Amino acid sequence: MKLQAIALLFALVGATQAHNQRRHHLKRQAPSSSAQPGAATSKPAVASTGAAASGAPTNNANPPSIPPPANTPPPPPSGPTPTTGIYALTSGKPADPTDPITATFAAGATPPIAGAPVLPTPFVFQAADWPLQDKIPDTNAPEVQNWMRELDGFYIPEIPPTADGSCAGDPAAAADAANRGWWTCGGYTRTTDVTACPDKLTWGVSFDDGPSPYSKTLLKYLTAKQLKATFFVVGSRVIERPTVLVEQYMTGHEISVHTWSHKHLTSLTNEEVVAELGWTRKVIKEVLGVTPTTMRPPYGDIDDRVRAISLAMGLTPIIWTRTPTAGQFDTNDWQVAGGLMTGIQSYESFQAILGNATIIDTGFIVLEHDLYDITVEMATDYTLNTALTYNPPLTLKAIGQCLKVPPSNLYYESTQNLTFPYRNNTLGGYDIDGDGVTDTLKSAGHTLIPSLVTVLCAAVLAAFF
Ligand SMILES: [Zn+2]
Repeated sequence: MKLQAIALLFALVGATQAHNQRRHHLKRQAPSSSAQPGAATSKPAVASTGAAASGAPTNNANPPSIPPPANTPPPPPSGPTPTTGIYALTSGKPADPTDPITATFAAGATPPIAGAPVLPTPFVFQAADWPLQDKIPDTNAPEVQNWMRELDGFYIPEIPPTADGSCAGDPAAAADAANRGWWTCGGYTRTTDVTACPDKLTWGVSFDDGPSPYSKTLLKYLTAKQLKATFFVVGSRVIERPTVLVEQYMTGHEISVHTWSHKHLTSLTNEEVVAELGWTRKVIKEVLGVTPTTMRPPYGDIDDRVRAISLAMGLTPIIWTRTPTAGQFDTNDWQVAGGLMTGIQSYESFQAILGNATIIDTGFIVLEHDLYDITVEMATDYTLNTALTYNPPLTLKAIGQCLKVPPSNLYYESTQNLTFPYRNNTLGGYDIDGDGVTDTLKSAGHTLIPSLVTVLCAAVLAAFF
């Protein structure tokens, strides 16, 4: 009945708490989506922040109460601004050559995941089989209608879609952010969100929005340094570079869903959210033979409705760390690519992240991107390199690793955990306990007493981890 617990958890929470292409990314990341000063959330360690907005250049500036990072970058020498190294890393710089595919993996090859099926025949893109790139998929497609049935029996809160996923764009929704569990406006999270690595000084390394022409360069670096990362991939990019995704997966990195067209999910209808997640899940399955059990909402834009849909589809949300005092653990690398920030400014905000990492009780998850030449160079030449020699020493892991989730549980086909995350792909709800009666969570009512929250959260987490 773990599934019931999940739904009841959502019910209870509801009842008691009243990129793609560059233009894509930059559009959302406009500094206008300012956060609201947050109230309490269900998860104090990653609670709301009064810090500036997602994407605001001041995001990771150290508040006065935060001591300076242990390792601060050397001040620029006096005189003219240097023009080499990190100082040259800024929008408009000449692109570096891309690295070719170096490893090929044949159909039938065995993946490094216990219980996962062998690699399928190489993916061949047929335009007629897939939604248009970088567009919200058609919700009338039979595939989407079929995936909608996965929501049957689940309690999906009736929260109206936000205007555009930003706080400024929908003041009424922003005012209701605490009730909605809306991360974008105030950093509200729920217990089912993964937002940090549990062990202090452990960095859950992740890269979003690929596979890109530059992902290979990053992969080469990660291999050389014996590092593993989690890649949150966009379906519209997967169809472009399936062999890169194969190499990421086959060389031991973790793969997670990051939607089809990289829209703000809270601004979409239920059907559109299902389509965004469903098509990405499907293309990953066709390329790799496995279906991720995790997802990351683009821009971190999630609320209780999007959470419930994701969980009903067997996808556990993973965001990046955000705390009341330290702000977001966002390298702002995308701002360098977009010309909104210089390389040295981004690097300085990363130094602040490392400093903040030393004062929080848990480990942390950082937002970085493998979409652009500049963001990959930020990672390979600066952020990862700095972290590897940091004092105090940091441990760098993929997110599933840092959570201590068995690698097989990161994919539906190989998971040993049949209760959560669970993919509800049957019609009309679920018979979870095998008694012949469908456990229709929607009818379970949403009137539990608050003291059950802790019990249910514990049950859900115990089932997952
Ligand atoms: Zn993204």
